[in-house]
Amino acid sequence: MNDEKKSILKLLDEKTIKDSSIPSNYLLGKELFDNNNIEITEFSDEKVTAIVHGVINRKVEFILNENFVNWKCTCRLKQNKYCKHAVAVGLEIIRRK
Ligand SMILES: [Zn+2]
Repeated sequence: MNDEKKSILKLLDEKTIKDSSIPSNYLLGKELFDNNNIEITEFSDEKVTAIVHGVINRKVEFILNENFVNWKCTCRLKQNKYCKHAVAVGLEIIRRK
């Protein structure tokens, strides 16, 4: 294994997820994670996709872009801070560390 190789798993940690979200969404996301509502459907160094199960299922994607992890979620079109679904999936990802 090449230590230089970047991966979503290496770049994400709890602090990054906290810093990337507003506190209320962090707590809501943690709740989703604690309730095992996350289904990872693809997991690689460069891309993670997951379904967050709920009243409306949401699809979250994390994509590695150089030194950053970009993300998107079907609950909103574009935003800077993680939505609660991205928080939940992020926590599910780092659980695999
Ligand atoms: Zn979302």
